[in-house]
Amino acid sequence: MGKGFFNVPIAINEPIKSYAPGTPERDAVLKAYKEMYTSKVDVPLYINGQHITTGNTRTMSPPHDHKHVVGTYHLAEKKHVEDAIATALEARKAWSLMPWEQRAAIFLKAAELVAGPYRYKINAATMIGQSKNIFQAEIDSACELVDFLRFNVQYMTEIYSEQPKSTSDAWNRVEYRPLEGFTYAVTPFNFTAIAGNLPACMALMGNVVIWKPSDSQVYSAKVIMDIFEEAGVPPGVINVVFGDPVMISETVLSSPDFSGLHFTGSTFIFKELWKQIGNNIHNYKTYPRIVGETGGKDFIMAHKSAVPKQVSTAIVRGAFEFQGQKCSAASRAYIPKSLWAEVKKLIIEDVKSFKMGSPEDMGNFITAVIHEGSFDKLAKYIDAAKKDADVEIIAGGNYDKSKGYFIEPTIIVTSNPNYTTMHTELFGPVITIYVYEDDAYADTLELVDSTSEYALTGAILATDRYAITQATTALQNCAGNFYINDKCTGAVVGQQPFGGARSSGTNDKAGSPQNLLRWVSTRLIKETFVTPTDYRYPFLGE
Ligand code: NAD
Repeated sequence: MGKGFFNVPIAINEPIKSYAPGTPERDAVLKAYKEMYTSKVDVPLYINGQHITTGNTRTMSPPHDHKHVVGTYHLAEKKHVEDAIATALEARKAWSLMPWEQRAAIFLKAAELVAGPYRYKINAATMIGQSKNIFQAEIDSACELVDFLRFNVQYMTEIYSEQPKSTSDAWNRVEYRPLEGFTYAVTPFNFTAIAGNLPACMALMGNVVIWKPSDSQVYSAKVIMDIFEEAGVPPGVINVVFGDPVMISETVLSSPDFSGLHFTGSTFIFKELWKQIGNNIHNYKTYPRIVGETGGKDFIMAHKSAVPKQVSTAIVRGAFEFQGQKCSAASRAYIPKSLWAEVKKLIIEDVKSFKMGSPEDMGNFITAVIHEGSFDKLAKYIDAAKKDADVEIIAGGNYDKSKGYFIEPTIIVTSNPNYTTMHTELFGPVITIYVYEDDAYADTLELVDSTSEYALTGAILATDRYAITQATTALQNCAGNFYINDKCTGAVVGQQPFGGARSSGTNDKAGSPQNLLRWVSTRLIKETFVTPTDYRYPFLGE
């Protein structure tokens, strides 16, 4: 046990490198990209610190060049998942007793490895495997992952120091125990940082983890595991299984020792997993914790007092960065009639200036969408919009999957505020805009609130303070992250804890103490110094 009340380094956000022409970081990341692009990687399962190759493999290809193969990864069978559970439970015996400062040291070291020696490798893996341009890779796989690791260590110590009152004759202590059993992390393709954080934050709090990454994020998941191993995460603490998500989840969720799900991904899958947990509830040794951050239909609402150039920039950045594949991406906007002509001109100008192609060419703002399923879905909605009477496509509308899954950033304008793309999450570079009468501001706020099942992010742009106040009240439950005079994306760990409610998730705010609290079960210890020796209370006296 530690002999001292240790202070951890004060967490600071990792500075973002610019990658501007002529900078050393630009050369370094391009060198890593080229090396990784032209070699082949073989990604095993990670069970009990062993690298397991099953021989049953799938290839990995960049979304922007889908015929090019950068490697293979191995798929788990049921017995591998069962092995992972058994070894995690064995590892728990030592890991749950490991002093907190030792766990902190491991993940602080992991943060420094990402920030330093692995920075270009993890960015290049994210550019290749998830088609992020360098800036999107840098803010995600380098900076946000580092931030999660550093800030969570600080939050852990803040949680541990939260203690109840004591009296002179009784000392009350709260112990923040890891959950009994093992935990399960299921992660999405779109953020390397989220993929790393979901298993890491549970392990940091003393839990053992089975991690199932997305099939579209395997390359950067491998780099994360290389980093965790080098940082000293012991065997069996974080076990990775790739493969059939249904089989893996069924095996994990039917174990009596399952104690927590940390999920980020689509709403439908999360609800299915919740249902499965419900069906197994009588088999578990403890009530599992369920945390899920899921879909969104994030909005930009402009008031007539807004500045058109600010509105257009919020739309263009909010909707199209990383091809609209951020859970927080703006996918519907409400613009007053008096601003529309100017905003329309500006967004079309911006979209026309985008270059689209491989992230290796750093002039490209837009690259490919993640996979063929996503491409086909987006193409279907764009085709429908071309035919539907109540909509008009004012920019984009073309797509091509001959080399990579490229969808032109597309702006749809609709006269029907309930048009399908105003409420369905498409998860791609498509935004739908509804133009409202200036004096229908209050009604339009109601529309924003009631149009979609989600409540993740949203933004109000206005200079009129009464209009801002009105929107802040009317939209109180319609976004877990609400922005005033900004775009609705770009949450930073330690500054804007992230998450939404309604169908967008359990709102346990990734990158905050609130989230970490879900992965501990408190034990209260009361120690009495003068222990009573007579059952009789004074009122029983003669
Ligand atoms: P997804 O739901 O397709 O996949 C997420 C994970 O679930 C993957 O690991 C996948 O393999 C797994 N999965 C898929 N089918 C499964 C099944 N039947 N049983 C068990 N697991 C299954 O999501 P995605 O395409 O990777 O990511 C995009 C989605 O994630 C969007 O809906 C986006 O809004 C959401 N997202 C939300 C947040 C947030 O913080 N709210 C953050 C990132 C992404």
